[in-house]
Formats: sequence, structure tokens, C-alpha cells
Amino acid sequence: MDDTAKGVAQGIARIEERIAAACLRSGRKREEVLLMGVSKFHPIEKVEEAWKAGLRLFGENRVQEGIEKFSGFYGKGVDTKIHLIGSLQTNKARTAAFFFDCIQSVDRISLIEKLGEICVERDSPLDVLLEYHTGEESKMGFSGLDNLLKGAEKSLSYKGLNLRGLMTMAPFTDDEKIIRASFTRLREARDTLEKQFHKKLPCLSMGMSGDFELAIEEGSTLVRIGTAIFGERPK
Ligand SMILES: *Cc1c(COP(=O)(O)O)cnc(C)c1O
Repeated sequence: MDDTAKGVAQGIARIEERIAAACLRSGRKREEVLLMGVSKFHPIEKVEEAWKAGLRLFGENRVQEGIEKFSGFYGKGVDTKIHLIGSLQTNKARTAAFFFDCIQSVDRISLIEKLGEICVERDSPLDVLLEYHTGEESKMGFSGLDNLLKGAEKSLSYKGLNLRGLMTMAPFTDDEKIIRASFTRLREARDTLEKQFHKKLPCLSMGMSGDFELAIEEGSTLVRIGTAIFGERPK
């Protein structure tokens, strides 16, 4: 193995240990938490190393970069999944809807309408998460529970969309209380939506390299890890 391969495999092994410990601490099963490798800005070689080390779920921020990197990748081998986690412009919605396995960053009604219209053409519904603004600093996502409820209602009205849960980014701060509160808010919003719409929303996508353990303690079912697996992103 060269250094890159060792680095990526070791990064995954270390993250796995920390995920297992966080699950143990919070009385959760390891299988309840999916590990996503966020490969944005990193080359395909690193993705291949991660795949060899057993990783099967990847996240990309940009439509074009995701397609360029992954379209030839193991023919997207049966169990390999790629999610879009960065903001999606409406004019790229069609391309994204036919490439990604899930769009986690659905953040406005107009995008839901666009995706809903496009996805009637898909063989199976497109998995989507609604991004919820749970912290003070980040500007992404639906803001306020009322708007989130409207987004969920809209998503559920389209046969081509399969609403699976919620995504958030906690504020960038060292203050654990603030980060944890952000994750708690996402979980509670999910619980509210489940009650309101009598629909299970099993996916809570929260936690990144700097805060995934707190996220797991607060109920995360999918952690999105970039730097701690692939290293610093090249600028
Ligand atoms: C870049 C990114 C990540 C990964 O961030 P790291 O801190 O490198 O782990 C996770 N989620 C989203 C939405 C991102 O844009």
C-alpha cells in the first residue's frame, strides 16, 4: 500500500472505532449509523482506496464534480451509493435527479416542485432529505418549523419523491452545547414531522469530522465524514 492508501484506510479504521464507542456510550447499535465518506475536492484514487477499505456510501457537494468522479466508478457497483449533500441549483435538478441515489440538500419549495415534476420519469422514487437550518450561523436549509412542515407536505405530495428524513449542519463553534442543541433540534423536528404526517422518517443525517460523536449521541443515523477520512481538502 502506498501512503495515500494507508492514510485513507487508517482514517476509516479510526472513525469506525470512534463511531463504535459513541454508539456504546449512547446505548445504540452500530448498524443504526451509516458512515458516509465525503469526497468533495478529493481525487478518484482516494475514493477507490476508501472503497477497498469497505466504504460504500459517498457524498459530493457539486453535481458536476460528482458525475465526473463517480460515473465510471465500479459502474456504481450494486451496493455503492452516492448522495448529493451540497446546495442544488434548480437548473441542475434534472441532471442530479438521474445521477444521485439521494439528494440530502433539498432546501426550498421551488426545488421540491422541480424535482417532483422531473421524478415522475424515474423508475423508482428519488430518495430526498430536507435540509433544516438548526443553528444560528449557517444560512442553509429550511428556516423555522413551519417552513419545514410545508416542505415535508410538499415532498409527500409527489409520487416521484421518497422523503426519508432530515439533514443539518451544526454551527462551526467549539461550544458543545450549541452543537448538541442543533442536533437535538433536528431530531425533535423529525419527531414532529413523523407525528404530523404519520410517516416514518428513518434518516437523520447529522455529524461531520468535528462533531459526529455528539451527533450519534443525539440520534444521528448517517454521519458525513470528509477531512477525518480523506485528509485536508486541496484548495
Ligand atoms: C464538506 C461537508 C461535510 C464533511 O465535512 P468534514 O468536516 O470535512 O468532515 C459534511 N457535510 C456537508 C454538507 C459538507 O459540505
